[in-house]
Amino acid sequence: MNVYDATRMADLLGQEGYAETTNEAEADLVILNTCHIREKAAEKIYSELGKLALEKRAREVSGRDMKIVVAGCVAQAEGAEVLKRQRAVDLVVGPQSYHRLPDLLQRAREGGRLTDTDFAVEDKFDALPQPSRAQIRARGVSAFVTVQEGCDKFCSFCVVPYTRGAEVSRPVADIVAETRRLVEAGVAEVTLIGQNVNAYRGPDEKGAEWSLARLFEHLSEMRGLERLRYTTSHPVDMAQDLIEAHESIPKLMPYVHLPVQSGSDRILKAMNRKHKAEDFLDIVARLRKARPDMAMSSDFIVGFPGETDEDFEATMQLVRDVGFASSFSFKYSPRPGTPGAERDDQIGEEVMRERLAALQALLEEQRQSFNSATVGRTIDVLFEKQGRHEGQIGGKSPYMQAVHVSGSAEMIGRVAPVAIVAAGSNSLAGRLLGEGEEAKA
Ligand code: SAH
Ligand code: SF4
Repeated sequence: MNVYDATRMADLLGQEGYAETTNEAEADLVILNTCHIREKAAEKIYSELGKLALEKRAREVSGRDMKIVVAGCVAQAEGAEVLKRQRAVDLVVGPQSYHRLPDLLQRAREGGRLTDTDFAVEDKFDALPQPSRAQIRARGVSAFVTVQEGCDKFCSFCVVPYTRGAEVSRPVADIVAETRRLVEAGVAEVTLIGQNVNAYRGPDEKGAEWSLARLFEHLSEMRGLERLRYTTSHPVDMAQDLIEAHESIPKLMPYVHLPVQSGSDRILKAMNRKHKAEDFLDIVARLRKARPDMAMSSDFIVGFPGETDEDFEATMQLVRDVGFASSFSFKYSPRPGTPGAERDDQIGEEVMRERLAALQALLEEQRQSFNSATVGRTIDVLFEKQGRHEGQIGGKSPYMQAVHVSGSAEMIGRVAPVAIVAAGSNSLAGRLLGEGEEAKA
């Protein structure tokens, strides 16, 4: 979501005459788009700001200016603290009000330091400009479209409901228009995103509410759009129509990111996840019934307050039962204002470190074996970019694996069958099938 927000900020500022650069030294404006989900991410910002402050001061000597903006969820959660800890920051803007950046920057230029952390979700999407064809093309053939923002779930470890606000779904027509624009400019794959994307309930023009499955059904008819994905889902909102969409819509890719956090019912309850481990296993079984080749991915937290060895073992067992193609796993990080942080049974760092290492070893083993199992198969690949070596192109399998082959740049934006010949640690090597050559399933 932060990637999406950053591109929308770039679109907006592009209209104001700004161009993107990867070189801080030549930037007139630096925006740190921040994440507050874990303490480590939030703390990084202050060290980054320290470096930028030195650059800003050096420039002031030579009469050149540099504006520093802190955007995103850290801005939302602790904007006042950011302004206090770092004098060089000119502006603090939350994730629901960055559409006001041009005006805010103008006011910052006129003098004074500003904060804008309104929860103006609807307002934001109405005000943001559409990117130009050139901007879309420069970003490649796979794009994100936000369909839903915010969260009402209040898992007891999580800051999102406090930083992104209440759950809001965008209207169907806006999503269709944004997607069409991307596809007309050459985008072949669209990932619908939201904090709880499968809780999507957006109005159509007659005011009827559409589910995510219905939205996919509609989008899948768009010519030129080859692949559809979505992230991130919550198990509780994994409706049967969405599961069945994986059977009836070939463009909907057989890869679902479904965070489970823990395999222990006791911990799931304490986390306020509102489902049991068994419910998760049941969803996975139904997804695999709809699409036998379904690849699963998930998020895990180890060391939630009160987690015993037995609870942790239940997580390991769930992982063994499912078999994940990929995953993200984290040590629990107590976040200010969340119920989890108030508990007096916090787990020690050493125990968390050991559990995380054991879990990650198992998940890594599963990832490698998932990748090895594709060797010898023929898989459709969407080509996205030139490879690292001359004459090489790279793309993605339906299961989100990076694949590279020898081939010409003309293939970029197209989907073609590839015989997978080898699995490396982070990507697969393949060979483009020749005309008339038979594919192996
Ligand atoms: N909406 C999604 C995930 C949002 S946050 C969901 O409901 O699952 C992304 C991931 O960050 C979470 O899935 C969780 O694994 C992790 N995370 C969130 N808060 C955390 C915390 N306080 N400590 C450690 N990991 C956390
Ligand atoms: Fe956070 Fe996801 Fe839970 Fe919402 S559902 S509170 S975003 S972990």
